[in-house]
Amino acid sequence: AAKTSGKNKWQFYTVKMQQDAYKKIRLTNSLRYALDNKELYLVYQPQISTQQRKLIGFEALLRWNSSEYGTVSPAHFIPLAEQSDLIQEIGNWVLYKTCFFIKDLLNEGWHGIHIAVNISSRQIADENFVAMIGDAIESTGIRPENLEIEVTESLCMASLDDAQKKLSALRQMGVHLSMDDFGTGFSSLTYLRKLPFKSLKIDKSFIDIIETDVNGAKIIDSIIKMAHTMDMNVVAEGVETQGQLEYLTANKCDFIQGYIFSKPLSEYNAREMLNTRIYG
Ligand code: C2E
Ligand code: MG
Ligand code: MG
Ligand code: MG
Repeated sequence: AAKTSGKNKWQFYTVKMQQDAYKKIRLTNSLRYALDNKELYLVYQPQISTQQRKLIGFEALLRWNSSEYGTVSPAHFIPLAEQSDLIQEIGNWVLYKTCFFIKDLLNEGWHGIHIAVNISSRQIADENFVAMIGDAIESTGIRPENLEIEVTESLCMASLDDAQKKLSALRQMGVHLSMDDFGTGFSSLTYLRKLPFKSLKIDKSFIDIIETDVNGAKIIDSIIKMAHTMDMNVVAEGVETQGQLEYLTANKCDFIQGYIFSKPLSEYNAREMLNTRIYG
């Protein structure tokens, strides 16, 4: 009897796996047309200085409002784009869209603004990666300092030397680099050692445990101290509670990004934020 049910189970999973694979293909195909159909757009989440509570910049985050599937999370569709050839096209669109927005803000008098964009390792692997970033900056007429690049440590080790060369070239140009989702991967310290980061973003999963896990809180304190020793800034991501904010303030975390200050905003509301928050 056990054998039979085991067999049925196997068949069940096989069918489910086929259905999942089919869904994935359909979703990817839909994503292929999302740019042309204007279903993709960016929102901008404010970053606030911890001590002075000033707005210092934003992170651009991609959104997909699909006519077929409704709202799809980037955590869901970015991996699909990365598995196909789509990430180049989408990533380039994100880059230009962000640079044009920065240019508009500069024209409106918001000098010194920075906006961070997330870059996939597939994009870095592209041989034209550095030139593409350079072109986006030049053709939109912004300064390299206005653009920040967020990289996660999901970069594969084999491509680390290549990434090192390219990211160093960007840093040389004056583009700031952030290490995203710090603490979640397996090779954080190697990345810190080899790549020219200007700031380090502590992943939300660490921020979540500040108030409940004494060791977790101590790890955060140590990360901040280590980053400062290496002349890097620290951004805490996903800060939601007063208790988290107080801990991060007391332990000299430099910048806060989280719902406690603001969710990601439309261009319109990002401007509103610039007008109402002390900016600097
Ligand atoms: P990420 O780069 O680590 O972005 C931070 C995520 O945390 C965002 O999720 C943001 O909305 C969310 N977040 C920020 N503060 C809070 C908070 O206080 N509470 C909660 N619950 N969440 C908060 P989002 O927008 O869903 O993006 C998920 C991930 O998708 C990003 O993680 C990033 O890895 C990826 N992603 C988003 N846009 C792009 C893009 O344009 N290109 C690439 N390659 N990846 C992107
Ligand atoms: Mg990010
Ligand atoms: Mg992150
Ligand atoms: Mg992430």
